[in-house]
Amino acid sequence: AKRQGRNHLHFFKRAEEHSKRVDIHLRNRFQQAIDEEKLALHYQPIIALQSGEMVGVEALMRWQLEDGSFVPPDTFIPMAEATGQIIPASEWAMEQACVDLKQMLEKREQLCVSVNLSVLQFSRANFFEQIITTIEAHGLANNRIELELTESILMDDSDHAIKLIERFRNAGIATSIDDFGTGFSSLSYLKKLPVNRLKIDRAFIQDIVGKSSDEAIVRGILAMARQLDIEVVAEGIETAEQAIRLTELGCGFGQGYYFAKPKPLAEILKDLE
Ligand code: C2E
Ligand code: CA
Ligand code: CA
Ligand code: CA
Repeated sequence: AKRQGRNHLHFFKRAEEHSKRVDIHLRNRFQQAIDEEKLALHYQPIIALQSGEMVGVEALMRWQLEDGSFVPPDTFIPMAEATGQIIPASEWAMEQACVDLKQMLEKREQLCVSVNLSVLQFSRANFFEQIITTIEAHGLANNRIELELTESILMDDSDHAIKLIERFRNAGIATSIDDFGTGFSSLSYLKKLPVNRLKIDRAFIQDIVGKSSDEAIVRGILAMARQLDIEVVAEGIETAEQAIRLTELGCGFGQGYYFAKPKPLAEILKDLE
């Protein structure tokens, strides 16, 4: 078994080296996209399941090449995290989200924009101040912006992460745990995290109708969240059946292709008319 493990390690190392080599082109092109402000944000509606109303949107980064094709975020985000480019890209995204949010608020006052954060940002000095300054510079109220973080922020220094989440909370900026259920932390860990909401990963929503184990997991998450006064968003809802089931189970919010795909600001503004 040991020998096999070593072989696997060897294989992964080789694969890593290979992907690093390929990435140099991608990395240079991404840098160009950052420098020339060629990145874009699309927005996916977040829906209150009982009323069906859009209560917010999640900002999702898009990178389109000259030939019109999009590089998938699951390709360029991990690369940008590895190279550190996620920092300038995220700073741009935060600015852009504020600019776009101002337009959305003209149509609907109560809307919120959720912005995805990288672990790298979280461990940087002055990150809190930087977010506050950006929001203020755009004349926005703190409670219109929400931050999505993954459980991986807890890996490095969970005490630091908890303190930071608390500072955001006290400043009126809500945080959510993204992709909940896929990380390392257990349900009981939630108790220590002063987050306002959690987003159940699509993996558990996919088979919620028909697969009793997934329904049980979602029930468990909802019960725990209720106890802790944490709101829940179900991600990746693709069918009416899933939406109905989640509403019956008492899940407050939902997001997914069934309601809407991520789309450009102009289309969100049209929806709000
Ligand atoms: P995420 O934060 O979990 O975002 C949700 C992803 O699920 C999005 O993929 C969205 O398009 C997709 N999705 C939404 N509804 C459905 C559905 O019903 N079915 C299916 N199959 N998929 C659905 P996207 O836009 O490709 O983004 C992938 C990931 O890239 C995001 O996952 C997030 O981790 C990362 N990402 C995207 N934008 C940013 C960003 O600005 N900053 C950072 N740090 N990460 C980002
Ligand atoms: Ca997210
Ligand atoms: Ca997610
Ligand atoms: Ca994800």
